[in-house]
Amino acid sequence: MFFLPRSKIMEGKEKKAKPKAVIIGGSIAGISSAHALISAGWNVLLIEKTTSPPTGSPTGAGLGLDPLSQQIIQSWLPLPQLLNNTTVPLTIDQNQATDSKKKISRTLARDGSFNFRAAHWADLHGLLYNALPLGIFLWGHLFLSFHVVDYNSSVTIKAKVLKTGEVIDIVGDLLVAADGCLSSVRQKYLPDFKLRYSGYCAWRGVLDFWKIEDSDTITGIRKAYPDLGKCLYFDLGSGTHTVFYELLNKKLNWICYVNQPEPEVKGTSVTMKVSSDMIEQMYQEAEKIWIPELVKVMRATKEPFLNFIYDSDPLKKIFWDNVVLVGDAAHPTTPHCLRSTNMSILDASVLGKCLEKWGLENLESALEEYQSIRLPVTTKQVLHARWLGRVKQGLVLPGREPFNPKSATPEECQELLQRNTPFFSDVPMTINT
Ligand SMILES: Cc1cc2nc3c(=O)[nH]c(=O)nc-3n(C[C@H](O)[C@H](O)[C@H](O)COP(=O)(O)OP(=O)(O)OC[C@H]3O[C@@H](n4cnc5c(N)ncnc54)[C@H](O)[C@@H]3O)c2cc1C
Repeated sequence: MFFLPRSKIMEGKEKKAKPKAVIIGGSIAGISSAHALISAGWNVLLIEKTTSPPTGSPTGAGLGLDPLSQQIIQSWLPLPQLLNNTTVPLTIDQNQATDSKKKISRTLARDGSFNFRAAHWADLHGLLYNALPLGIFLWGHLFLSFHVVDYNSSVTIKAKVLKTGEVIDIVGDLLVAADGCLSSVRQKYLPDFKLRYSGYCAWRGVLDFWKIEDSDTITGIRKAYPDLGKCLYFDLGSGTHTVFYELLNKKLNWICYVNQPEPEVKGTSVTMKVSSDMIEQMYQEAEKIWIPELVKVMRATKEPFLNFIYDSDPLKKIFWDNVVLVGDAAHPTTPHCLRSTNMSILDASVLGKCLEKWGLENLESALEEYQSIRLPVTTKQVLHARWLGRVKQGLVLPGREPFNPKSATPEECQELLQRNTPFFSDVPMTINT
């Protein structure tokens, strides 16, 4: 399993040996990078601290895939239709205002030509994981540190085997950091880097309605949200908003954003375990604001969880030496433009194309090109998502009044739509030279 440094390969005159990348993190960005780099002719080894693949487990919740990500994923699958079998269409993006007194909703803005698909995180992860060759994953391995050797000719990674406590060295030509928004690889180059708390948290849950399809909860919600199954619903209240859509296999995904002071983040997770008292308090607050049909769905959901919402000011660089950042490690973002997963998939795809174009001999040019394609896009998208989150949460905005769903003008309402995200339908994948 140990990779030889490039210098050793050259000594052995195995000049045609494939270059090798070590990827830290086996979530969406890591697994996508594995696909893209293998397609580009690289060998990859993936290090993930989780002890086993989460495939099939209830880990995670819903996410939305944009048309380009769908295309890229399909190119990685043995059968492209597998993606459509695992996801449901989201053809409408609808924002509506909830009148909390009368408990009714009114449409603020609707885009009927939306072209996303909704997936459960675990389904998407499983789909991508199962399409990779066996033996490239080191599960239960905690990345500890790395150092770059011989003027960037290779990189040595130290990882701890969690089962035995043994510390091992792994050598590769390139280190791809896909270790999430709290990236410890990034920490080495940017020791003062800090995440920015958004001002709000997100309660999240997935209701599995397999056994209660004919219940009042489900017939009621289908009546109140008639486009469920194809619509991405945003409900806006005063200083709060929700996101609501259907997933495959009779699941309803909901998110409810709540303004609150920054919590104390313990350990390396931005997800918090919640007590039953906290859940009950959240439901009681929700009852004051949202229509009863939506609160019923929330109440019927097992184990809702709480995410603290962070992003960061866009980075100026996303590679150093032969180390490159992808996914949330490269651009922590708030979720309002459905960007985290899509940016991860696009990062991976562009990185693969650049590595293929330039080859290992010109690694620096490849990483330079990757950065110059991706940074301008992700910078604008992260900042737009930050702005949109503040709009929807009714928070103070520079140069204008906080958004009020009751009195917003038609122009302000149009700004809520996803299609206003920078590079929404024209993301550059290559540089025209
Ligand atoms: C279990 C899980 C469930 C998720 N569910 C959802 C969801 O339902 N909806 C949604 O929109 N987003 C979800 N996300 C987040 C989503 O995957 C990301 O926001 C986005 O896709 C970018 O992914 P990423 O791979 O860059 O980062 P992440 O998804 O955060 O993945 C980082 C990975 O790196 C691993 N890692 C970190 N440090 C180390 C280390 N020192 N050694 C080894 N491994 C390390 C982590 O265990 C993790 O698997 C989930 C993430 C995870 C890990």
